Amino acid sequence: PQTVERIAAGEVVERPASVVKELVENSIDAGASRVTVSIDRDGTDGIRVTDDGTGMSRDELKHAVEKHTTSKIRNIDDLESGVATLGFRGEALHAIGAVSRLTITSKPRGGQGTAITVEGGSVTDISPAGCPPGTTVDVSDLFYNVPARRKYLKQETTEFAHVNTVTTSYGLANPDVAVTLEHDGRETFATTGTGNLRETVLAVYGREVAEAMCDVPEDDVPEGPLDTVSGLVSHPETNRSSREYLSTFVNGRYVTAGAVREAVLDAYDTQLAPDRYPFAVLFLEVDPGTVDVNVHPRKLEVRFADESTVQDQVETAVEAALLEEGL
Ligand code: ADP
Ligand code: MG
Repeated sequence: PQTVERIAAGEVVERPASVVKELVENSIDAGASRVTVSIDRDGTDGIRVTDDGTGMSRDELKHAVEKHTTSKIRNIDDLESGVATLGFRGEALHAIGAVSRLTITSKPRGGQGTAITVEGGSVTDISPAGCPPGTTVDVSDLFYNVPARRKYLKQETTEFAHVNTVTTSYGLANPDVAVTLEHDGRETFATTGTGNLRETVLAVYGREVAEAMCDVPEDDVPEGPLDTVSGLVSHPETNRSSREYLSTFVNGRYVTAGAVREAVLDAYDTQLAPDRYPFAVLFLEVDPGTVDVNVHPRKLEVRFADESTVQDQVETAVEAALLEEGL
């Protein structure tokens, strides 16, 4: 059973970036106003996420690394049919602890600090620790006990690029949280946490991109499944990007959506800018019942019940934004 569990965790914790995603999500859930992600080399050497959120008491820490529910995984066949991912919610820390050496240091406001260490799924130490309020999760030797998973990882630049994409996404989705990413001790980017999306884009992508952006006003959406579309889109005339970059958030969750990409590209075409690559950060609010998030269990792709109307809505909103800037 221990082996199956380890394989299961390795199957769901796909790569360093999946660890970062879960830890940053937890920090934001904990109400952090500051989240720092530090990566050593390709991330298997070390991933550290520090936040100033609610923190955890000794009992909460013990509970946090336990398995919350009985896993639905009974054998390898279940794993391969994708069932593994279904039981994953509420089990991120447990799964990470099963495939690494994990230390969590945490202190609730006004409480005592505690450090807990988990190695390959077993708690090896829990003791008092001095630390500021909030939580630091330290993951080292990721996949040390899952050689197959380790072999599948790409080289350092690729793994770090995935970490960068994930961290960037959460930074953009949460402009009121100051998100910092460090690689081997050097800062990759740091958002200010002032709540301003344009400032966040500036911190993440630089001045040129930020200045090419125009606002997508929230009220330009025609009738349809989407309640609102808002965010920023680069102007074809000032945008000099040589690659396409779309960050799409559906109800605050980072996703990829074919309909949204088509809509942005179509809006660009209509505006007679066939050779330009759009940069866009778009927030869509929609009735969750009309989105299918399970198109691919481990990927970010979503599909809407009414894809073509959603596409029209996004295209109209983006076009309106570009026209407003007087193209
Ligand atoms: P989930 O987030 O789905 O509940 P996790 O395994 O990711 O499952 O986390 C387990 C629990 O540990 C969380 O529900 C939360 O109570 C606690 N926790 C995890 N990370 C943090 C954090 N950074 N700050 C405060 N509490 C945390
Ligand atoms: Mg979580």
